[in-house]
Amino acid sequence: MNLHEYQGKELLASFGVRIQRGIVADTPEQAVAAAKQLSEETGTSWWVIKAQVHAGGRGKGGGVKLAKSLDEVKEIASQIIGMHLVTPQTSAAGKLVNQVLIAEDVYYPGESETSEFYMSVLMNRVSGRNMIMYSTEGGMDIETVAEKTPHLIFTEEIDPTVGLLPFQMRRIAFNLGLSGLAFKEMTKFVNSLYTAYVKSDASLFEINPVLKTSDNKILAVDSKVSLDESALYRHKDLAALRDTREENAIEVEAKEAGLNYVDLDGNVGCMVNGAGLAMATMDLIKMAGGEPANFLDVGGTADAERVEKGFRIILKDKNVAAILVNIFGGIVRCDRVAQGIVDAFNNMGDDFNVPLIVRLQGTNAKEAKELMDNSGIKVHSVTEFQEAADKVKEVMAH
Ligand code: GDP
Ligand code: MN
Repeated sequence: MNLHEYQGKELLASFGVRIQRGIVADTPEQAVAAAKQLSEETGTSWWVIKAQVHAGGRGKGGGVKLAKSLDEVKEIASQIIGMHLVTPQTSAAGKLVNQVLIAEDVYYPGESETSEFYMSVLMNRVSGRNMIMYSTEGGMDIETVAEKTPHLIFTEEIDPTVGLLPFQMRRIAFNLGLSGLAFKEMTKFVNSLYTAYVKSDASLFEINPVLKTSDNKILAVDSKVSLDESALYRHKDLAALRDTREENAIEVEAKEAGLNYVDLDGNVGCMVNGAGLAMATMDLIKMAGGEPANFLDVGGTADAERVEKGFRIILKDKNVAAILVNIFGGIVRCDRVAQGIVDAFNNMGDDFNVPLIVRLQGTNAKEAKELMDNSGIKVHSVTEFQEAADKVKEVMAH
């Protein structure tokens, strides 16, 4: 689950990570009030207005702007709230901006230069350990740095039995070219950042840029925080931060129905039990010349109600031109699943408007095929994987 920048920063701050301070606003009026309040609290006289959407590269798309007066705050906030922000990470249609973060300007002039760094915390899947990835080349997109100047990206792996050690924090500060106060500040920053990552069961922190201010403070100017969904049950406060407006509407509905659904670009809808079989089914569709429209794991109970819900969710995607059901009956018997499919199909009437291919295999597969064949519903019923593939090819050709 992804958080907004402002939510991520609040999470970081609660673990003692220094952040660029800000207040979120839904309207231009709230934006002005927020700017005034920030000035009282921090003494800032300039502000940055930042679109809050789940996508990076907002600066490039015009979603991050500097305001030098309260009038400008109001003007820029009115422009950004309600806009469809297009960035390198969104579709061409962009993302609707519902809120802006009004943040203190932290690029003020001072005794030394400001520097922007890159820092992320994530799991290295090869070693199975958390690592901190960081670079002197902050502010720009890290993919370009990785491609053009990979030697400027450093990693620090953390041994889970002892955690992040002080010498590692110092090595990071050293590699970033820091000294004096900024060096000390960076070791503190890294320490609290890593604690926040572990304690919140995050799967990714990406802070780009981490800023060294002109008075040698180290702070997070941006935050991208992804939390591990499987651990959210033990973070009720964090689970409440979900913003379903940012998520795929069909996926949200499927989640509420307890179905494991991922929207894809293709035209063959699939309903499968078990993630492994679902993956194999997607391969099968591809080999038959189609493209899967979704991943859907209905899980163990494929009764009529669940099957119907699954069909309705699949058919919300207007690209779907056929549906393939591929279910293995182990504990759940195939004939019961078949009955569920027949009932769901009949119940849906004209709402079911694409060819249906059903492959049921396992316990009582024979009875299930008979039941389907005698049901009078329009279905291509098969028992073998290859037959299912051939049928998909056949119906897609029409
Ligand atoms: P992103 O484009 O979505 O990654 O959004 P960021 O939060 O990283 O902001 C984009 C850029 O805006 C940063 O790299 C900074 O250069 C700039 N920026 C952010 N905060 C400030 C600020 O307080 N003052 C000024 N002058 N620029 C800022
Ligand atoms: Mn950024």
